Amino acid sequence: MLLQALFSELAAYTATRDWQYVYPVWSRRAQGISIGINLHPNHSCNWHCIYCQVPGLQRGPSPMIDIARLQTELEHCLDWISAQAVKHGPDLLSPLIQDIAFAGDGEPTTSPQFNQTLNVISQVLKHRQLVILVRLITNGSQLQHAHVQHAIQCLHALGGEVWFKLDAGSDAEMRAVNGSHVPLALHMQRLHTCCSLCRTWVQTAIVSRKVYQQLVTTPSLPGYITALQAYQDKVAGILLYGIARPSQQAAAASLQPVAASVIEDYAVELRAQGFQVRAFD
Ligand code: SF4
Repeated sequence: MLLQALFSELAAYTATRDWQYVYPVWSRRAQGISIGINLHPNHSCNWHCIYCQVPGLQRGPSPMIDIARLQTELEHCLDWISAQAVKHGPDLLSPLIQDIAFAGDGEPTTSPQFNQTLNVISQVLKHRQLVILVRLITNGSQLQHAHVQHAIQCLHALGGEVWFKLDAGSDAEMRAVNGSHVPLALHMQRLHTCCSLCRTWVQTAIVSRKVYQQLVTTPSLPGYITALQAYQDKVAGILLYGIARPSQQAAAASLQPVAASVIEDYAVELRAQGFQVRAFD
């Protein structure tokens, strides 16, 4: 209760600031605060997932980030949280802050300033002698680039981790669900690269959508399991989740939340294949 109350106070505080890049959110799953880093306040992404919660999502280039401003916003957020630790005791910090997460309103690794931003965050944490997990939530589409690989190596050196999106069991599902024309096999190669650089969780949204009056659930299990087959000893595990919040995309009307039992069916199948699985509805 204390942590949630503190988050409400932090939310009230941030509402009085004009932060562009830093957005603390309450993590229902972790029951703590996740400090989000948004490198796409212009809502542009190279993918167009049907369940995406970003309003006004568009395709387009990443904006230039004011790194000094981003650093100031992060420092102010950490100042506020540190003041609570002074008030309530230092043991509060670790349960209160779950992570600093690159997520936001577009794909973080498409930003040409992703590496620089990661470096700034690393310096801020070092300077404050804070140990906070840094997490990259990515669609994995830029893993072929050397500078992104280098950033993920730096993330590993920081003790961070990657959540890598995989929502499909076929090329057609990648097009239908993610709006990506990347073949699934190529996406899996990128996952392979990611796993070789840093601790990586696969993150999968299980989605039901109406196609010609029929309800289709993706990813289709046979293709999804086949794609993942060689990854039992490479990925840290698999995060399965349904659509907790409504999609802001045109396809929203065709989507339906899946029952918790459907997510559990996927989890059972994946555990039988030797994967560690965490399921959220
Ligand atoms: S990759 Fe993320 S931000 Fe981009 S469209 Fe998909 S859900 Fe939205």
